[in-house]
Order: sequence, then C-alpha cells, then structure tokens
Amino acid sequence: MSMKKTPEEIAKLRACGALLSKTLREVRAQCVAGASTEALDALARKRFAEAGGTPSFLGYLIGDDVPPFPGALCVSINEEVVHGLPIPNRTIKDGDIVGLDIGVWLDGVCTDMATTVIVGEVDQQTRQLVADTRASLEVALGQVKAGNWVHDIGAAVEDFLLPKKYGIVKDLVGHGVGHAVHEEPQVPNYREPRAPKIRLETGMVLALEPMVNLGTWRVRLKRDGWTVVTADGSRSAHFEVTVAVTDTGYELLTPWPDVKE
Ligand code: MG
Repeated sequence: MSMKKTPEEIAKLRACGALLSKTLREVRAQCVAGASTEALDALARKRFAEAGGTPSFLGYLIGDDVPPFPGALCVSINEEVVHGLPIPNRTIKDGDIVGLDIGVWLDGVCTDMATTVIVGEVDQQTRQLVADTRASLEVALGQVKAGNWVHDIGAAVEDFLLPKKYGIVKDLVGHGVGHAVHEEPQVPNYREPRAPKIRLETGMVLALEPMVNLGTWRVRLKRDGWTVVTADGSRSAHFEVTVAVTDTGYELLTPWPDVKE
C-alpha cells in the first residue's frame, strides 16, 4: 500500500488522533503516585470503547513465543524504554518517570503517540532528560516538510542529543502509521547510513518517537518478552506524535497532551 494517505484518510486520521490525544491527556492526569498501571489502562480502554475506537496495542503479536500485549497502554517506568506492561500490582511511585504510549484504531485508520510524565520529585538530571527528549521531538518535527529526506530527521535529532551525552536508542525507531500500526518508512532518531533514501511527500503520515537514555544507547529485552530496558539500568524517556507531511511542514494529528488547548 502507498505510503501516502488521501485527504479523506487524513481527515479520518485527524479524528482518530484527536481521540487518542484526548485520552492520553486524561490518562496522564491520573498518572500520579499510588496509581495502578492497570487502572490507567482501564481508563484508556473505556474512553476508546465509548468513542467506538479499538486499542491498537491490545493483543498485538510479536512472535509465537511471546504472549499477546495485555493492554491498550504501554507503561514504561524509569529504566524501561518502551512496551512496559499495564498489569496488576504495578503501581506508580513518587520519583518515577513514566512513559505512556498508546495507539488506537478509529474508522479504519490508526494513530500512535507517547509522553513521559514526571511523578513528584526527581533529580535535576532526570528532569533535564525528560525536557531534552521532548525538545528532540520538536527538533525532529522541524525537519518534516515535503521535499526533505527521512534521514534529515535522524540527523537533526542526533545533532541535538549527542552533544548532551545521551544514549539514543537504536533498536527501535519511528515509523509510518495510519493503515497499519507500523508501516514504512522507518524513521531512525540517528544517522543510519544503511537506511533507504526516502523523500518526504505530502500525504505521508509518520509517528516520530525519540527514545533517549541517560546512559548507554544499548537496550535489552526483559524476560516477559515485551519490556525493553536500558542495558545499564539508566533512566529513559520517550515522546511520540503522529503527523501528516504537508507542502510547507506538517500537521500534528495527535495534539500534545501536555500543552493546554
Ligand atoms: Mg510508535
């Protein structure tokens, strides 16, 4: 299927992204010390069901030997990079940073987004990590425009983050989205000389998602088969938006959940 979406599909993606962003905004407000990860997931599922949407991560399969993903929401705490599980007995604590990653299908299209929440008091280094990761997504967005290259995005993010001595996760990357949860093109957050050279075109829809570690860029998979953690146990942050490429820049299909409307 083409990487480009029609104006009709973009209109559907706009509605889908609005539902997703509204839901994440609400989940984010409930992400406080003492909250259960399972309850955050239940809230997201409820809002999707009320709107006629279907969670895109729930039941997602990555291999025969890994159980399907158990929720609508990934909850990744501290050294967890992405794909943390929203399950009973996992509770948010004061001093945590919590990645909330969520996706939904609505009217035949899907969108994807994530934010990282600081819960209570954290040290300055952690606070800066979260701020710089969010800023790196804005840097990525600054490269989105018809005529630019996909690799302009990774180059800009790398140039922003590496002087600050962060580890940029390489095992997971941004991606096309809309007709499927993960589509071409892959959008690395770093320079990848082996990546195909793809030009951005009006109508392409991308999920941009820098994943940034305080220590090494290296990650490993936990025994649950899902949770990706930093190899050195350092903390990690993650922000993601879905955007449509336009002639002059981009349209944000998933409004920032941490910016007041
Ligand atoms: Mg994604």
